[in-house]
Amino acid sequence: MKYISTRGQSPALTFSEILLGGLAPDGGLYLPEQYPQFSDADLNAMRGMNYRDLAFAILSRLVDNSDIPHVDLKAIIDKTYRAEVYQYARAGQNAADITPTLKLEDNLYLLSLSNGPTLAFKDMAMQLLGNLFEYVLSKTGQTTNILGATSGDTGSAAEYAMRGKQGVRVFMLSPYQKMSRFQTAQMFSLQDDNIFNIAVKGVFDDAQDMVKAVSNDHAFKAEYKIGAVNSINWGRIAAQIVYYFKGYLAVTSSNSQKVSFTVPSGNFGNICAGHIARMMGLPIDQLVVATNENDVLDEFFNTGVYAPRSSANTYHTSSPSMDISKASNFERFIYDLVGQDGSKVRELWSAVDAGGKFDLNAQGYFAKVAGFGFVSGHSNHAHRMQTIRATKASYGVTIDTHTADGLKVALEQRKADVPMLVLETALPAKFEEAIVEALGEVPERPASLAGLEDLPQTSSVMDVSVDAIKAFIRANT
Ligand SMILES: *Cc1c(COP(=O)(O)O)cnc(C)c1O
Repeated sequence: MKYISTRGQSPALTFSEILLGGLAPDGGLYLPEQYPQFSDADLNAMRGMNYRDLAFAILSRLVDNSDIPHVDLKAIIDKTYRAEVYQYARAGQNAADITPTLKLEDNLYLLSLSNGPTLAFKDMAMQLLGNLFEYVLSKTGQTTNILGATSGDTGSAAEYAMRGKQGVRVFMLSPYQKMSRFQTAQMFSLQDDNIFNIAVKGVFDDAQDMVKAVSNDHAFKAEYKIGAVNSINWGRIAAQIVYYFKGYLAVTSSNSQKVSFTVPSGNFGNICAGHIARMMGLPIDQLVVATNENDVLDEFFNTGVYAPRSSANTYHTSSPSMDISKASNFERFIYDLVGQDGSKVRELWSAVDAGGKFDLNAQGYFAKVAGFGFVSGHSNHAHRMQTIRATKASYGVTIDTHTADGLKVALEQRKADVPMLVLETALPAKFEEAIVEALGEVPERPASLAGLEDLPQTSSVMDVSVDAIKAFIRANT
């Protein structure tokens, strides 16, 4: 299996060749040359599989044996998806399922993706990436310095995945004193000597701009082998495909049944994996995109116009991990929507990259969206608070604000006879303040994380300065 760019002007490469990189050289995103197809017989064989075997059945179709020998791929998967790592399953769930479901009522389920070390779904992909990076780097004798900016979830997932990994250092910028106490403690309490937490005296966008400036300095980037693990990384998307299969198989008994998924969305990475699962033959009815007040995706799926906002026009909401103005993975779906036409994608993104927008009504592309199963909706703060309260009252289950956004939209879109799975993208303990506001009580926290905020913390405080971060990287490599 080779990977090509959505903009059609980059050479085809293998999985391990694109693993450590970000954008393709032509500015596009990597996708497989063609999607592997899973037949009825394949799906039947998958019904008895545990998470690890299922992950191998899918990922071994995306990674050639000549690229990463499949015995090694299997070992990496087995090391990643263990019950001890995904230990924060709810009472009544089996941690060994890795992504267990939780039934709320007939045909309505949560798909729990947040039982890993940082209590958010990003662990599902990032943990695999950590082990894949270490493997690929050790094989080629390379090292990498991962540089990123985070407002919370991505940074902690990356650090917990990369801590202690040979050949990898992580330099993670976060806005000084702007993350929740829990998120800060999660990251800053890590004492591994390959993890560097840098608190930037500014807002998230300042930190992000510093990362961009370093990445645009090609000489520095090459000399210090600067890498990224952002949401456009193909390895992350690939890992996320697996749990759509797992969720489907958990709530059906025959492949003639269809299910729908609702996905709290920001950068369109999670739901893009659902789209690809569908393209591979998984019987999905609807893929429901749920956004918060930052509704650029909801607007597209309702109007056919994709109009990214500026970061100054991004709202800070109570579902902060979905506060995006531009959905970086959206290009992958649009590539399929326009018939895998790289030149069309180039034309559309030449407008987007210049700060503009595009309208897909004209050439009849927008009319095809329904055929891909997509519908959408959005929530505001009051909706999320109300959904958290109602879910607690009706089912005795506490959900976080991101999942609440999903459930609110799922209830609007679901069909009576089609099982709906709402992806649980974080556990409520991660967003304590919002839960206290909704329910007047502190959410339950896993016992092993009690006192997290009291552990010793290590971080370096830095001004908003590109020279300062470069000097810091020089001094620590
Ligand atoms: C990252 C994140 C999202 C958004 O996921 P995308 O893949 O960017 O669409 C939603 N919820 C939580 C809790 C997250 O951390």
